[in-house]
Order: sequence, then C-alpha cells, then structure tokens
Amino acid sequence: MSRAIPASSIADKPSSASQLESDELVRYSRHIGLSEVGESGQRRLKQSSVLIVGAGGLGSPAALYLAAAGVGRIGIVDFDNVDLSNLQRQVLHDTAAVGSPKTQSARARLEAINPFVRVESIEAELTASNALEIIGAYDIVVDGTDNFKTRYLTNDACVLLGRPNVYGSVLRFEGQASVFGTPDGPCYRCLFREPPPPGLVPNCAEAGVLGVLPGLIGTIQATEAIKSILGIGDTLAGRLLLVDALRMNFRTIRLRRDPDCPACGTRELKELIDYDEFCGTSPSRDGTRSSSVREIAPRELSDRLRRGDVIDLIDVREPYEWRIARIEGARLIPLGRIGASAPEIARDRDVVLYCHHGARSQAAGEALVAQGFDRIWNLSGGIDRWSEEVDPSVPTY
Ligand SMILES: [Zn+2]
Repeated sequence: MSRAIPASSIADKPSSASQLESDELVRYSRHIGLSEVGESGQRRLKQSSVLIVGAGGLGSPAALYLAAAGVGRIGIVDFDNVDLSNLQRQVLHDTAAVGSPKTQSARARLEAINPFVRVESIEAELTASNALEIIGAYDIVVDGTDNFKTRYLTNDACVLLGRPNVYGSVLRFEGQASVFGTPDGPCYRCLFREPPPPGLVPNCAEAGVLGVLPGLIGTIQATEAIKSILGIGDTLAGRLLLVDALRMNFRTIRLRRDPDCPACGTRELKELIDYDEFCGTSPSRDGTRSSSVREIAPRELSDRLRRGDVIDLIDVREPYEWRIARIEGARLIPLGRIGASAPEIARDRDVVLYCHHGARSQAAGEALVAQGFDRIWNLSGGIDRWSEEVDPSVPTY
C-alpha cells in the first residue's frame, strides 16, 4: 500500500535542496542510521513538502514532528487566533500567543525547532475557491480539521489533485486515522458518503476531548506522512485505525474503495462543490432545517424576559459548563437527564432550552417534543451567541 512521492514531483527542485549540510547530517543522524531511511531518505524528506490543514490539536504534534524530521517545506493553513481553551491540547502554541494568529505562533515554534525547514503560514480559511491552488502546491496533506465541511473539502481536493491525504479525527476519548487519496486506496467519502445531519455529531467544543488524544492521533498522522514520503512500511491506506484511549485499545479495520464513490470511484465529482450546502451548515439551511423545535434568537428571548413573560429557561449543558457561565434565571438539567426530568418541566408555558452553541439543546428539544411537549424553543447559537448579542458579562469559553 505504501508508495513514495513520485520522483517527477521533486525532480525540478534546486540542487541545493538535495544536499545535506554537515549540521544536518548530525541533526538527522538517528534517521540516517536507519537502513530504511539513510542519507537518501533524509534527502527525500528535505525535498518534500507537507500541507497541514489546521494548526489545532491534530496539526500541532504533526507539525512539530514533521519539522523535527526535516520535511523541507511545511505549509500551515489556519485562520483562527490562539484561544486560552486551545492550550490544553494544541501544543504548538503557548500562553504568550493567546490572541495572536495560530499560523504566526506555529511558524515561530517550528522555525525554532528546525531552521532548515521552510515554514509557509497561510492565514486563510480553506475554501472551495482556494483549496486546489493551496493543496496543489504540496506533495502530501495532513488533515487536522475539526469540522465536516473542511474535511470533505480537503478530501475532494486531494482526490482531484492525486495527493495523499493523511486523515485524523478525535472526540472525547476516541480517535481515528487513515491515509486517503492514494492511487488505488479509498477516500473519506468511501467511508462516510454523506455528512451527518448538522448538530447530530457534536464537536470537541461541545463534547470535549482528552487533551493528549489529538497528541496521539496527530503523531500517528506525522508517522504516516513520513512513511509515505519515504515509501517504507505499510501505511494506513486501505485501513482505518480506531483508538480508544480510555481502554487503550488500538484496532484497525479494512477499508476498500467504494466503486460508487463519487470522488474516487465513479469520479463524477469533477470539481469542488458548495460544502456549506453539502454539510447543511449554510445559514439559510440552518434556519429552515426540518425540526419540530422552533428557534428563538437571543435578543427575542431577552425582550420577552424583560417584558416579564413566564418562561421556563433550561440549560442542558454539563455542570462544569454551568460553573463557567450561565444565563440568569435558568436552571440546569444536563442533556443526559432531560428525558428522565420531563415530569419537572411545565407543559403550560413556553420552555426555552439552551446549551453552548445550540446543538445539544436542539437534541433535548426534540426529545421533549417526542414526549408530547408543544411549547419548546431552542435558543439559537446557545449561550455563546447570548454573550455576544445580549450580555457580554457572560463569559465565553
Ligand atoms: Zn472515495
């Protein structure tokens, strides 16, 4: 399954890039001593380029190890700033970098680790209009994204361009990794043809993640990228690695290319599409998605509360989140207890549910509607949007 980067893609690079200076011979001596790597493998690493999509939990360890390993050119695409809540797992960034662009902080750290590496920071969101150009400039992609929209976009662009796509994802205590987009291997769409309905699968901000887990998976991604460059061993192409950190179980399952996959099977997907539309994340679809739970905007709720309307305001987040921030007048019933707590919820008044961003409260609302409640509302955008639009004194996290 493993396959080195085609020599043609590196043949026209300047000859200086193919020589190792004496400092590099020392720096990489533990690689060079491996017969599977040697000086020629190390030169190959130096001549190669990897794009890391997302300088977050997965991208951090991947970038650190790829830089240390001497990958000649590392691109980092990200449009976020470092947030205090990132530091529990995003080890590229430090406390002093909070508030500054992740690409900037990543670049400084990687250059400090290895001055022989060229770090290219691309402070932008990867979109359907720039993905082919950005990804096309690199040999391999490490997908460190945390959302379905960018994951499908990255997958499709890699398949169209014929670039290996080293995939990883994490949630709570579990992670996955694979290598997609190899000449005869499967792609992400072979595994997940359609994205899940918006809000059904929580993200790490909603559901949490053990900080060290993206460290494990991102390091596995770096391993697979390095093996792919060197053409050694068996990569995860055609296999999905599943990691359960709580039980510390690692297992792999076979993956096959789906002949009906629109990206790598039938190849009917000839260009990038509208991924907001595909994943149901566009604002227009969010507002009209079929749900029996009506949405209420933060301002509208605030107006109603000020008018003295009798509303049962229920927070469905976890107790630790309640301790960080809450909306005055609310009571806490975590999502997991909402079904059992239904008898305590009034049926003769409006009930407004909220969570962090609106996904869990929507699920809670649907559970109550299924039990016959007909006056259930979901606070659109959750407490986060409430803080932004109504009450900035409510901390965000
Ligand atoms: Zn496919």
